[in-house]
Amino acid sequence: MAKTLKIVVVGAGIVGVSTAIWLRRANHDVVLIDKDQPGMAASYGNAGLLAQWAVIPVTTPGLLKTAPKYLLDPDSPLFMRWSYLPKIAPWLFQFMKRANDTDARKTAAALLPILGDSLQQHKSLVQGTRAESRVQESSFSFAYDSRKAFEKDAYGWAIRRECGYVPELIEGRAVQEEEPILGPSINLLAVLKDHGHILHPGLYVAELAQVFEEIGGQIVQAEVTDFDLTGDRIKAVETTKGRFECDRAVVTSGIWSKPLMQKLGLNVPLETERGYHVLFKNPSQLPRNPMMMSSGKFGVTPMGNSLRCAGTVEFGGIHAGPSRAPIALLRKKAAIAFPNLTYSDTEEWMGFRPSTTDSLPLIGELRSTGIFTGFGHQHIGLTAGPKTGRIVAELINNTPPNIDLRPYDPCVSANTMAQRSMVQFAGQRDCFVADGSLRSMPSMISQNRLTAR
Ligand SMILES: Cc1cc2nc3c(=O)[nH]c(=O)nc-3n(C[C@H](O)[C@H](O)[C@H](O)COP(=O)(O)OP(=O)(O)OC[C@H]3O[C@@H](n4cnc5c(N)ncnc54)[C@H](O)[C@@H]3O)c2cc1C
Repeated sequence: MAKTLKIVVVGAGIVGVSTAIWLRRANHDVVLIDKDQPGMAASYGNAGLLAQWAVIPVTTPGLLKTAPKYLLDPDSPLFMRWSYLPKIAPWLFQFMKRANDTDARKTAAALLPILGDSLQQHKSLVQGTRAESRVQESSFSFAYDSRKAFEKDAYGWAIRRECGYVPELIEGRAVQEEEPILGPSINLLAVLKDHGHILHPGLYVAELAQVFEEIGGQIVQAEVTDFDLTGDRIKAVETTKGRFECDRAVVTSGIWSKPLMQKLGLNVPLETERGYHVLFKNPSQLPRNPMMMSSGKFGVTPMGNSLRCAGTVEFGGIHAGPSRAPIALLRKKAAIAFPNLTYSDTEEWMGFRPSTTDSLPLIGELRSTGIFTGFGHQHIGLTAGPKTGRIVAELINNTPPNIDLRPYDPCVSANTMAQRSMVQFAGQRDCFVADGSLRSMPSMISQNRLTAR
């Protein structure tokens, strides 16, 4: 058995709790630290889909042409808070550069290994625990207004098919027989079998946190403020409730991983794609299985006695409050798709997807520092969280999984670092230098640390 290590996991979203559980199951001494209650950030209000099929990034060929049109169309699910544009412009530039066939396929190939067995990964995580009943097996349908709309999605379906996701098509009156909640605006379902969803993702993560405590893990509510990197290894994590000595640290802090990485002198290309949900309480009807509504691009998920519609992408950073337009769009599109739906009440929510410019999460060790990363899961964090946690635990246990981890490598090549370290200095603190060691030296403010990836 591997040596027992003291490990601090920073952030108790789906990625953090999964990581903490797998590390604790390997008998490590694990402290999970969160500034809030577990599962209250992005992991709270997502659509709950185990989206094994979600291999296609937002950046597909043609986006450069369509994005400006989408931004001006109030019926499109893409929104921008224009005052944030100057701030996000460098990230957007790198993001949009990837809207081509080669990069989209590269991303799909890299996402498949962390998405493809998601249902099984969730089942392994929860087997025999209080959270078991939240993992539901289901089919998943893409709902289209027409065959023409389905055919417009040919690019995505070609890649999904290559990844093994071949849909069964249901058309005409059979659509409403399959999903009685759907009105006449929906005329085609592309159905994928053997998928899954989570009943109330926020409660799921909170229960997983309890599971972690029940098996001997410790949860601390505090804000992590810095890392002690004396020498070239992690020594401790500094928090608002004091210092936690450790042999390893794992950063699973969602969008807030960016300021934590800045503490290490690293500027990771992380931005938020803000997303929204409307929860219809006590609905008169529920879908039999989760769906993705292609008009409006939002997920629809039955969650016990409520129906959740979640989606939209808004660029606007983490400081501005929620906007009305994305919520209005979700309500409008839901009313068209489900014309007979009545309900007692609704809940509205906004969350911060942590997104990288290449749509791939950062999973791995920062050089040989003992600091590991598990963040940047954009639209697929619930789906890939348990697998990410398992991968990080396996890396820490020195039993790396049999998959190519290079696409998720958080480290940049020594050459790129060398180039940047010559030009970008500001302030005084510890940071990475070109030879891979950590020394006290002027802080390096790199632009887009991972563009070389
Ligand atoms: C509308 C919407 C719908 C979505 N639908 C789906 C879906 O159907 N399927 C899917 O797979 N994904 C979906 N996603 C994406 C998914 O929700 C995210 O990718 C995922 O929740 C990210 O999880 P995380 O653990 O990385 O981060 P979070 O859940 O954001 O957790 C990060 C945690 O770190 C803590 N933290 C941050 N900084 C500090 C600090 N300094 N000290 C201590 N604690 C700190 C925070 O308090 C927080 O609890 C959706 C997202 C949105 C917004």
